Amino acid sequence: MSGEGFVFSQKPIAIESGSGATLTAEDGTEYLDFGASYACTPLGHSPPAVVDAITEQAQDLLYVQGSYPVATRTALQEQLAEVAPGDLPKVWLCNSGTEANEAALKFARSATGREKVVAAKRAFHGRTLGALSLTWKDDYRDPFGPLPSGVEFVPYGDSEALAEAVDDETAAVFIEPIQGEGGVHPGGDDYLQTAREATTEAGAALVLDEIQTGVGRTGTMWACQQAGVVPDVLTAAKGVASGLPLGVTLCADWIAEGAGNHGSTFAGNPLVAAAASATLTQLQAENVPENAAVVGEYLREELRAAVEEHDLPVREVRGAGLMIGIEVKRGSMRVLRDLALSQQVLALPAGRSVVRLLPPLTIDEGDADSVVDALVEVLS
Ligand SMILES: *Cc1c(COP(=O)(O)O)cnc(C)c1O
Repeated sequence: MSGEGFVFSQKPIAIESGSGATLTAEDGTEYLDFGASYACTPLGHSPPAVVDAITEQAQDLLYVQGSYPVATRTALQEQLAEVAPGDLPKVWLCNSGTEANEAALKFARSATGREKVVAAKRAFHGRTLGALSLTWKDDYRDPFGPLPSGVEFVPYGDSEALAEAVDDETAAVFIEPIQGEGGVHPGGDDYLQTAREATTEAGAALVLDEIQTGVGRTGTMWACQQAGVVPDVLTAAKGVASGLPLGVTLCADWIAEGAGNHGSTFAGNPLVAAAASATLTQLQAENVPENAAVVGEYLREELRAAVEEHDLPVREVRGAGLMIGIEVKRGSMRVLRDLALSQQVLALPAGRSVVRLLPPLTIDEGDADSVVDALVEVLS
């Protein structure tokens, strides 16, 4: 299906179990998981506290429709509003990242009564039709049109172009603080601050898609905190429930007024809510985002040093925390395949020339050293 499947197509790796940053295949081979799980394991694989919370919840109640308050779900909503990067008290729960962005798009259009949306070139916001209308890549879009209209794309990271595109007909601006799928490109603090100013001035919603950058990945709970920017809407998914299907749309009060008749049967089901609560609790109790900042900085520095020392075919090492892009001067797929098959290190592509690392946020410097060594072997 998706491109990265190619990495394994010649020699599929059937995974049986996981613990921490290690995945074990059916044949007993152990792999260091530095991204193959799509940033969904901030605490590592099957973290005991999350497994316990799910087990307990499963024995009490697997599901009840959203109209009946359930303590587990209510507690998660309160916890999310508390860890939000500012005053985003209204919490919409759903089942994936793309749905979280669908909700954001619907709420922003409804709350503003406007249609126009500004998104960035190279953006990735999901694959359902609404979110796909905000996603840049032709490969993802072309076979599935027509897509919802009203989206204008501007170059990512270009504050001037962004400010120019936003006017009093704009419902929302969608931005990833660091583009993930698009190649691990940080937008920069100025860019996010300009987006905040331009949307405020135009009465439009600033939607930050933190589905990949959030939940501690970049060294703070949310990437936007490093720029001192509070959006009107923040979307999260991926690691928020340790890999169980949960999407989150955190909204300012004025945005939530646009929620109207939006809904979803599985939204905020108690089992997934229990997983998310346990994940967030442990992230905060153990200062996991701080570890991501420290080990991420170490890993980037070690990678740059290794590139220099071994004259590796690497153009750039970039990112924040444990969201790292290594732009290589050869096909990323070949590098990924060699990493997996000869070094037992799993990573991800971000386009044709970028190797992307999104390991568990609980790794230590020893794990980082192993991956630097593996990359030196593969790229030398
Ligand atoms: C993965 C991702 C999505 C889509 O999430 P799904 O759960 O796959 O629907 C949206 N935006 C960003 C930035 C992502 O990384």
